[in-house]
Amino acid sequence: MIRHIAPLRKHSLESSIRVQLRMVHHKVTIIGSGPAAHTAAIYLSRAEMKPTLYEGMMANGIAAGGQLTTTTEIENFPGFPEALSGSELMERMRQQSVKFGTNIITETISKIDLSSKPFKLWTEFNEDKVPVTTDAIILATGASAKRMHLPGEEIYWQKGISACAVCDGAVPIFRNKPLAVIGGGDSACEEAEFLTKYGSKIYILVRKNHFRASVIMQRRIEKNANIIVLFNTVALEAKGDGKLLDMLRIKNTKTDVENDLEVNGLFYAIGHTPATDIVKGQVDEQETGYIKTVSGSSLTSVPGFFAAGDVQDSRYRQAVTSAGSGCIAALDAERYLSAQE
Ligand code: FAD
Ligand code: NDP
Repeated sequence: MIRHIAPLRKHSLESSIRVQLRMVHHKVTIIGSGPAAHTAAIYLSRAEMKPTLYEGMMANGIAAGGQLTTTTEIENFPGFPEALSGSELMERMRQQSVKFGTNIITETISKIDLSSKPFKLWTEFNEDKVPVTTDAIILATGASAKRMHLPGEEIYWQKGISACAVCDGAVPIFRNKPLAVIGGGDSACEEAEFLTKYGSKIYILVRKNHFRASVIMQRRIEKNANIIVLFNTVALEAKGDGKLLDMLRIKNTKTDVENDLEVNGLFYAIGHTPATDIVKGQVDEQETGYIKTVSGSSLTSVPGFFAAGDVQDSRYRQAVTSAGSGCIAALDAERYLSAQE
């Protein structure tokens, strides 16, 4: 919807400039382009809410379509028994959003003002211009797994190195092979345990002499004979034959002794960074930096501002859980907007 600003004085230079300053207003704006954003878009457009979706332009270092565009086969999204590539799955979701009338804008939102209604938005290319206004926002900007950028990582990324055991653990290159997980938190313990289904043995490389993980998770690791914990150990380099990873250069930080560890898989579990910079300080966050939502909903501390997908989920971080929360956000936003009318 386009709104014209205040009455203009005729024939003045000022007025001719003002004529060009048209304020753009969206009823509901979705920021993001992963499964959460597109599911919200599909629901809202089918409900004739005319959503506008900013899909980003390499926002947060990831192409429009989100994290799934950085991986190969998706085998665990229901409805695709034959599996399909992450990029194809996201392209199909985008087509579905467009089919029902979502207005998709290929720009990155760089600034948001939630202090008054309507909310204000700026994109990378109009930061010094009149902001776009909107009655409701669904933030679905996702998160990104932290990577270590070891020497060799660029060669073996997704060819032995991954940041998601649940996503990639079942692929054939890891079957009955020694694997390593880096990290000392709950994710590292959970991923190591999960990987024992596939690998012959699992090393956990912990940089300190103790875990950060909860005691219960540590006990489970200790009881599992297929998991070997290497404390005070850091990885220095990922090595292989140029096609697949088969070795890690590691160092004991107490003794400074270096070794080669034979592993065919390396899984980072050193934390994730939710993409929340654009709303920092304006909405409540969890201790971990993820957006805080009311349990079982997408409601945040700011009425009219909803969060969906990985940006508010430090725990599950899956395509299907993101899609589910995108649906919840669309229904919450629709209810909120109806109550405003
Ligand atoms: P994301 O997919 O994170 O997408 C958010 C996108 O929003 C960003 O990428 C960016 O393009 C856009 N954006 C960010 N900031 C802005 C901004 N300011 N303005 C505009 N746009 C913005 N899950 C599974 O279920 N199965 C798998 O097999 C699987 N494999 C994976 C493999 C890898 C390598 C990775 C990294 C993840 C994998 N996952 C998998 C997890 C899954 O990708 C995520 O849980 C899911 O994509 C999260 O969806 P989302 O909608 O929250 O956001
Ligand atoms: P955490 O931030 O808790 O832990 C990250 C771990 O990675 C730490 O041990 C940290 O080491 C280590 N680390 C960070 N950077 C590096 C690096 N460059 N090199 C080597 N090691 C590094 O993240 P998690 O993802 O494990 O957990 C996030 C949240 O999710 C937590 O609140 C956790 O409890 C929760 N969670 C709960 C689960 C459950 O209850 N089942 C499962 C998974 C997560 P250091 O300790 O030295 O800083």
